[in-house]
Amino acid sequence: MVEKIKIIVNEDKCYLCGGCAGVCPSLAIKVSSSKWEFFQDKCISCKICINACPVGALDFEPLEG
Ligand code: SF4
Ligand code: SF4
Repeated sequence: MVEKIKIIVNEDKCYLCGGCAGVCPSLAIKVSSSKWEFFQDKCISCKICINACPVGALDFEPLEG
C-alpha cells in the first residue's frame, strides 16, 4: 500500500509560480497570486509536485494511519 503523505510548502522559497499545481494529477494543490493551498483529501501521494518545484519549496511528511 502507498504511504499517505502530507505536502508542505516552504513559504520563504515559494514564489507562487503554479508549477506544482500544474503537474498535480489530482488537483490537490491550488496556487493563486497570494497563496499556496493543499487539499489533503485529493492527494494521492505521488510526490510529482515535489520534484516539479524549481526552487525546492515542497517537502512531505508521512501521515499516520
Ligand atoms: S503528491 Fe501528487 S497528488 Fe499529492 S499534491 Fe503532490 S502531485 Fe498532487
Ligand atoms: S512549484 Fe514551487 S515555487 Fe512554484 S508554486 Fe509550487 S511550491 Fe511554489
